[in-house]
Amino acid sequence: MIGKARCPNCPGCVLSVGAVTAQSNGRPGMDRADVIVVGAGYAGLSAARALRRSGVDVLVLEASARIGGRVHTERIEGGWAIDLGAQSISQGHTAFAALAQECGAKTFTPPTAGRSVLLEGTTHRTFKGQHPPLPPLVLAVLAQAMWRLERLAARIDTERPWAAPGADRFDAMTAATWLRRNLPERRARNLAEVMIGEELSVDVGSVSMLALLTAIRASGGVESGTAAESVLELFVEGADAPALAIAEELGEDLRLDSPVTSIQRLADGVLVGGAFGAVRGERVIVAVPPTLAGRIDYDPPLPAARDHLTQRVPMGSVLKVFAVYERPFWRDLGRTGQAFNLSGPIPVIFDASRPGGPGCLGALIPGRAAHRLAELPAATRRSTVLAEFARAFGRVALAPIDWREKAWAEDPYCRGGYNAYFPPGVLTSVGHALRTPVGPIHWAGSETATEWSGYIEGAIRSGDRAAAEVLGGLSITAGA
Ligand SMILES: Cc1cc2nc3c(=O)[nH]c(=O)nc-3n(C[C@H](O)[C@H](O)[C@H](O)COP(=O)(O)OP(=O)(O)OC[C@H]3O[C@@H](n4cnc5c(N)ncnc54)[C@H](O)[C@@H]3O)c2cc1C
Repeated sequence: MIGKARCPNCPGCVLSVGAVTAQSNGRPGMDRADVIVVGAGYAGLSAARALRRSGVDVLVLEASARIGGRVHTERIEGGWAIDLGAQSISQGHTAFAALAQECGAKTFTPPTAGRSVLLEGTTHRTFKGQHPPLPPLVLAVLAQAMWRLERLAARIDTERPWAAPGADRFDAMTAATWLRRNLPERRARNLAEVMIGEELSVDVGSVSMLALLTAIRASGGVESGTAAESVLELFVEGADAPALAIAEELGEDLRLDSPVTSIQRLADGVLVGGAFGAVRGERVIVAVPPTLAGRIDYDPPLPAARDHLTQRVPMGSVLKVFAVYERPFWRDLGRTGQAFNLSGPIPVIFDASRPGGPGCLGALIPGRAAHRLAELPAATRRSTVLAEFARAFGRVALAPIDWREKAWAEDPYCRGGYNAYFPPGVLTSVGHALRTPVGPIHWAGSETATEWSGYIEGAIRSGDRAAAEVLGGLSITAGA
């Protein structure tokens, strides 16, 4: 044993830090670690890495046969990466950038030369630059609404959004209601709905207005969010490269195929169980989205507010697709590979080709459209999407050499994406339970981040925060 400390969250609980012992509670052979981390997404991996680097003995239990969670890189012929989950890093993502640099993961900016495509009804237009060519009235009304959103979001403290001025009022309405009242111009409203839906992977009629303002604030405001998005970079080897580097560092302290189904609070720690057996620890960090955390059986049961939170914070829904071509043929036509569709099921098409690799067009289909498309037979879904690609870039798009897709609601251990969302009434009633530890149980995951929640950046910061919470109660010196 290296050290002992009194736990700040559960009086009477004494934490021990240090060597793994082969016995616990008199049960020979039971695994044991100082801290157990549930989930090997970027949040869990970052928490484990921070703890290990502070000399804490840690064990990560991951349900799936792979690490990464909502980051899922596949390789196509030639070894080129395709990110079926998260793919990009942007300007404000400092923790992710530092991690990537440390791991030697290289990024690139997709080329922007050429003209993008705007589809609206039967209209097909091309344009240069980031912003689709819309009538001045639409752009003016939209700019005014964005200014209002910016001002409202600036009043939110992301640590306590429920305490913001007007929080009850904004949490009693959906984002759709606010948009209807504040953006009477139909095309401008439609564009705002499409942009928000694409950003949150949920229809505006489902998400609380307070939650939308909190998300805007957590990513630095409408303006900075937009600016940051405009300098997106992708990873040459895929967005899982830094996660793989952490997993390698963890070695045998990371176990795959180990879904956690129970967490028992003991007088002096936790017992974390599943079909793999049971592991005894001083603390546990649950680094999975709230609704999945709610599927674990807790003994004794969680406080009512925490349990209700897990019942009321569902996952968004997104279908991500990629069509692969011999080469990025759209560049020969003077196109960027980016297309916006204000009236179809696929709001945005983008170029995800790796430098020197085959052509790769991708699309993210959020919300209701994701559910509808996912329920179609695979061949129909593929032809429906390719027809949209062809509308944007011509008939060549109908004949890809490879096709990859992932409906995130079907992933058994993510059950949706990009992230969880807060429907009306949740933040102001049980939002305070999102990060509050329950005795030796700590909560991490992108959803718990106060900055860049919903991004890998938020996941990393949440893991670091949960590790610091745990370390705050441990009396060991860094690197001991
Ligand atoms: C299609 C898509 C596109 C996205 N695009 C971007 C992007 O470009 N940039 C960006 O920054 N973010 C993006 N995101 C969001 C980003 O992926 C997530 O916010 C982030 O990866 C969440 O990390 P996490 O560690 O909090 O959770 P997760 O990645 O969900 O990790 C949780 C882990 O816990 C495991 N698990 C679940 N239940 C259990 C259990 N009972 N026992 C053990 N293990 C369990 C899961 O298998 C998973 O590995 C995107 C997401 C999706 C789905």
